[in-house]
Amino acid sequence: MGTDSDKATILAVEDNADTLTLLRYMLTKTYRPLLASDKDEALSLAGEHAIDLFLLDINLGQEYTGINLMKQLRDDPRHADTPILALTAYAMPGDRERFVEMGFDGYVSKPFTKEALLETIRGVLRDWDATP
Ligand code: MN
Repeated sequence: MGTDSDKATILAVEDNADTLTLLRYMLTKTYRPLLASDKDEALSLAGEHAIDLFLLDINLGQEYTGINLMKQLRDDPRHADTPILALTAYAMPGDRERFVEMGFDGYVSKPFTKEALLETIRGVLRDWDATP
């Protein structure tokens, strides 16, 4: 019935406030976005909500990166199989393979368009089923 529970919940973690606002704007029609600007907020939200996909900025402005966060989430049985996408300005040939080898399900390179973001998300949520 068009309630939020019909939508996949995406936790986006990004230390840049403008990018976080942009992510909310791009995601909100199709998904239920939850936003975190640092690791602590992210882990707290991940503990309180059932997350269907994580979108993690790599450079979180601290020594602790999105790669550390991905590994910490993967260590939690609740999130071991949840899709995790990297959001990064690194876009070199072979980057996708590198991030996948680390444990990410894919990545979105910055700057990104709404179309590119949603297409990558759709690709990893293909099997997501909203029916309980
Ligand atoms: Mn950042």
